[in-house]
Amino acid sequence: MGIDHWIQLVYVLSAVCFILALHWLSSVPTARRGVITGVVGMVLAVGGTLLRPEVAHYQWIAVAFVIGTVIGIPMAMMPMTAVPQRTALSHAFGALAAALVGTAEYFLRAGHQGMDRFTMGALTLEVILGFLTFTASLMATGKLQEILPQRPITYRGQNVVNLGILGAAAAIAVVLVIHPGSHSLFLLMAALALTFGVLLIVPIGGADMPTVISLLNSYAGLSAAAMGFVLNNKLLIIAGSLDGSSGLILSIIMCKAMNRSFANVLFGAFGQVSGAVAETGEKKTYRSASAEEAAGILLNASSVVVVPGYGMAAAQAQHKVRELYDALSRNGVNVRFAIHPVAGRMPGHMNVLLAEANIPYDALVDLDEANSELPQADVALVIGANDVTNPAARHDTGSPIYGMPIIDTDKARTVMVIKRSMNPGFAGVDNELYYLDRTLMLFGDAKSFVGELVKEVQAQGGQHAA
Ligand code: NDP
Repeated sequence: MGIDHWIQLVYVLSAVCFILALHWLSSVPTARRGVITGVVGMVLAVGGTLLRPEVAHYQWIAVAFVIGTVIGIPMAMMPMTAVPQRTALSHAFGALAAALVGTAEYFLRAGHQGMDRFTMGALTLEVILGFLTFTASLMATGKLQEILPQRPITYRGQNVVNLGILGAAAAIAVVLVIHPGSHSLFLLMAALALTFGVLLIVPIGGADMPTVISLLNSYAGLSAAAMGFVLNNKLLIIAGSLDGSSGLILSIIMCKAMNRSFANVLFGAFGQVSGAVAETGEKKTYRSASAEEAAGILLNASSVVVVPGYGMAAAQAQHKVRELYDALSRNGVNVRFAIHPVAGRMPGHMNVLLAEANIPYDALVDLDEANSELPQADVALVIGANDVTNPAARHDTGSPIYGMPIIDTDKARTVMVIKRSMNPGFAGVDNELYYLDRTLMLFGDAKSFVGELVKEVQAQGGQHAA
C-alpha cells in the first residue's frame, strides 16, 4: 500500500472519530469521551496531513506549531466564564486560516495553472465566509469581553447597507468564477467580506451573542468544507460539513430556546431598549431574608427546585451548591435543578458546572419538565439567575426578552433569589419576579451565601432531627 493509501486510511479514521465525538458530546455522561475522541481525530488529521509528499519542509510547520501552542495554552486556561469569547476567538482563527489558504491558492493557481469554475466557486465561498467570520468573530469577542460596547448600534438603512456590501462581494465572486484572472477584484471581494463581518455584529446586542457565535461556528465550518473542495481534501469536506451543520443546528436550538427567528437575531437589535427599561422603573418594594431564615424555609419544604444561572458560574458556587444539595437531601427534601438552555454564558454552561460538582444527572430537569413541576414546588431557589426567570418574557410585549421561554419560578409557593444586588442581568431589564409577595431576596455573593445556607441547614437540620 502506497503512502497515499495510508493517508486516506488515517483520514477515514479521523472522520470516524469526529462523528463519534459529536455523538458522545450530545449527552453529559459521555461528553468527556467525546472530547478525547475529537482530540484523537484531530491528531490523526494533522499527522496524516504531515505525511503528504507535498510537505517538503517541516521547519515552518514547527514554527507555526510553537506559535499555536504559545497562544493556545493560555487560551485554554481562561476561566469558565470567559468560554463564549474564547470560542468566538477560536472561530476567528479557524476562519482566518481557511480564508488565507483560499487566498494563497488563488494567487498560486488561478490564472496560471487554471482552475475550473466549480473550484473557483468553492474558493470564493471559502474566502468570503472565512474573512467575514474572522472579523465578525473578533467583534463578538470584543463585545463579550466588554472591550467594545455590548449595546446594539443601529442606524437608518443599516440592513440595506449591510446586505448591499454582501451582495457586492457575491457579485464579484460570480465575476471571478467566469474571469478568475482579476487580482484586484479578488482583493476587493476580500475587503468587502472583512467589512461585512464587522458591520454584521454592530447591530447585535450581547444577549443574542450566543446564537450569533454558533452561527459563526457554522460559517467557519462551511468555509473549511469549501476549502476541502478547493484542495480536493475529503477530510476537510467531512469535518467542515460536520462543523457547519452542528453549528447551524445549535443556532436553531438556541433561537427556539429564546423564541426568536434567525432574521430577528441578525437584524432585530435585541436588547436595544434595555438600559432605558432598567432605569425608568418606578420605586417598587421587595423583601429580603437572612441565611438563617432561608434555611428554615428550605428545611420545611418537601420539594425545592434550584434554578442556577450566570451568577453561580461567576461566583464558582457549584461545589457549595452540591453541599447544599447533600444537606437538604439528608433532611428528606427533594431537590431538583432546573436547567434553562441559555442560562449562563454558553450552551450547556450549567450542566458542565453541576457535573463538575458531581451533582447526579437525574437531579437535573429541562425547561419543560421544570415548568410542569414548579406549580407543586414549595420553594424555587434561584442562584445567580435573572433573565431566564423574568416573567416579563411571558406578557410584556415591549420587553426585549418578550417571547423567550422562561423557568416559571413565580409559580412556586415561595421564591428565594440569591444575588448581590437589585441590578439587572445580561439583557439589562428589571426582573418583576423580585417584587412579588412570595419572593425573598437573599443578598450576597452566591458562593458565600450558599456556604452560609449549608451551615444553617446543617445546624437547624440537626435541631429538627433532635
Ligand atoms: P443573567 O445574566 O440574566 O443574570 C445573572 C445574575 O447573576 C445577575 O443579575 C447578577 O446580579 C448575578 N450575579 C453575578 N455575579 C454574582 C455573584 N458572584 N453572586 C451572586 N449573583 C451574581 O443570567 P441568566 O443565567 O439568568 O441568563 C443568561 C443570560 O445571558 C440570558 O440573557 C442569555 O440570553 C444570555 N447569554 C447566554 C449565553 C449562553 O449561551 N447561555 C451566552 C451569552 C449570553 P447581581 O449583579 O445583583 O449579583
